[in-house]
Amino acid sequence: MADTKIAVITGASRGLGRSMALHLAAQGVDIVGTFHSDKEEAAKVAQQIEGQGRRVAMLQLDVGESARFSDFASDLSSVLQSEFGQDHFDFLVNNAGIGIYASVTDTTEEQFDELMQVQLKGPFFLTQKLLPLMADGGRILNVSSGLARFTIPGYAAYAAAKGGVEVLTRYLAKELGPRGITVNTVAPGVIETDFGGGVVRDNPDMNQQLAATIPLGRVGLPDDVGGAVALLLSEGGRWVNGERIEVSGGQNI
Ligand code: NAP
Repeated sequence: MADTKIAVITGASRGLGRSMALHLAAQGVDIVGTFHSDKEEAAKVAQQIEGQGRRVAMLQLDVGESARFSDFASDLSSVLQSEFGQDHFDFLVNNAGIGIYASVTDTTEEQFDELMQVQLKGPFFLTQKLLPLMADGGRILNVSSGLARFTIPGYAAYAAAKGGVEVLTRYLAKELGPRGITVNTVAPGVIETDFGGGVVRDNPDMNQQLAATIPLGRVGLPDDVGGAVALLLSEGGRWVNGERIEVSGGQNI
């Protein structure tokens, strides 16, 4: 692996992915981030990373469109060569995602399929397509959710997809061991982002109700997760493998 590590982070334009990108850049890691729809926000993140003295590229990607992942891998390969002078990247963070709130009774097949495409099929096949570009000794973090451990009505399909991500993590860890690649799950608890329409951040009643489920007495902030991801992708995290690390302030323990 090259001395300066390169992280590929999906959904790096906002929320948790942005914080992960900024924390990793502060730790000396170069960043390839992806955005889905908001090129302007992505450009702002890129500017901040450049301000930290790191190299950065932002690429468009829809993690729900697996048919285009081969094209994305080609784009990434070109950018690695042209912007970073490298053939490989070191860290993959499968972060991008959406939430759909609906009870089991009300969930439509379309909602279910969209969640599975974006949250489970996306990480599965994106990882598959990017593995040839990943350096031996690299690391993968898959973002799950506290909701795969505890149960809040309205998130069955979402949490089922995240449960799949956690199982996928263990299989990847086993299969990629011979290449020296570690694979772990990061499972955030409730965090104030745009997620779910920003309801946790913007609805004070809901914010307080959820804060009461967390021993530390508040809901999480993006930097709580960005910092944990940087910790896991530091040299000291190299022997952590096949694990599910919850980053929730102890929510619902
Ligand atoms: P967010 O603030 O809504 O940001 C979502 C990010 O993902 C944006 O960069 C967005 O890009 C991108 N994205 C959305 N749909 C996409 C798609 N189809 N293809 C590619 N990129 C897409 O969400 P967040 O809270 O940071 O969530 C990040 C991850 O953490 C998700 O996997 C989520 O399930 C998980 N999580 C969140 C919480 C929480 O409370 N916030 C808790 C547990 C787990 P554009 O802006 O360009 O559209």
